[in-house]
Amino acid sequence: MSAPTTFNGWVGEAKGAPLVWKEMPLRAEDEYSVDMDVTHCGICGSDIHTLESSWGPAKYPCVVGHEITGVATRVGKKVTNVKVGDRIGVGAQSGSCHECKRCKAGFENLCSGQRTGTYNGIWPNGDKSYGGYADKWRGDCRFVFKIPESMTNEVACTFFCAGVTTYAPLKRHNVNKDSVVGVLGVGGLGHYGILWAKAMGARVYALSSGTKKKDLALELGADGYAATSNEEDLKPLKGELTHILCTGTGQDFKWETYLRLFQPNGVFINVGLPSWNFPEVSPMLLVLTQASICGSAIGSPAEIEDMLKFAAEHNVKPWIQKYSMKDAPKAVEDFNAGKPKFRFVLEN
Ligand SMILES: [Zn+2]
Ligand SMILES: [Zn+2]
Repeated sequence: MSAPTTFNGWVGEAKGAPLVWKEMPLRAEDEYSVDMDVTHCGICGSDIHTLESSWGPAKYPCVVGHEITGVATRVGKKVTNVKVGDRIGVGAQSGSCHECKRCKAGFENLCSGQRTGTYNGIWPNGDKSYGGYADKWRGDCRFVFKIPESMTNEVACTFFCAGVTTYAPLKRHNVNKDSVVGVLGVGGLGHYGILWAKAMGARVYALSSGTKKKDLALELGADGYAATSNEEDLKPLKGELTHILCTGTGQDFKWETYLRLFQPNGVFINVGLPSWNFPEVSPMLLVLTQASICGSAIGSPAEIEDMLKFAAEHNVKPWIQKYSMKDAPKAVEDFNAGKPKFRFVLEN
């Protein structure tokens, strides 16, 4: 059977244009390529930033979606990690150079050569990359993962971006039963942050601007909640935390508010990408807290494998709401209205 050359997907043709369902070219096959029939795709904030060109001009036409699960339908000659019929997934990254120092050290997510985003990117062969608001996807086996037996495709998909973005740094910074973790922002990423930190055995406090998210955060398993706008709420946390995972915060952000919540040597991990810069940090504050401030970008293939195993072992389940793939424009509209609790999943 000859390989398909096209797929159908929801196409953003220009900034602000409505999504249209149409036929698009699949990238060329090669010995590492994997074809998948898409079953599910999560909706990520990055999809909206790309469609709206808010992180810089997008390469229209775009088909977004980078929390993709499906079933492998065709694999290249050198593919050994998946076979036809396997349930598989792919996240925000679909390619790296495999040759730079970072790739060789297992930091493919930080590749300093050609790094292919799952959508709005360019494959090494020059073809454009298209995401999972679609019926089919073709990519590279080195960024494709088998889904654990115990996990359905609809549950699995959001692990591939939101899941690993929050799992990888908590694991890297050794969150465990002795940790006290503050999760700043209770949205798609923050909800995962709470689930992971609890599964790692930590005590977890959800931190969010008002009181709106309090009940949900406690329902997710947080041991406590503090409204960051309320000094009285934050007082009992002073000097208590070992880690803060920052998934989102307002532009009124102040380092003092958060670094003083740390025990000595606390770690502030940023995974959010607001369009503004963090404020200056006082050298005195850094010295006298011995805090570390760092960031984290999605996760490497090894971290994705590790996350899937951990999630299956600890039965970590994201909170998702499903929409039919044909209702993707409505799902995007509801996403933009802030309705996800906590992740939307499109289903074919
Ligand atoms: Zn994403
Ligand atoms: Zn590289």
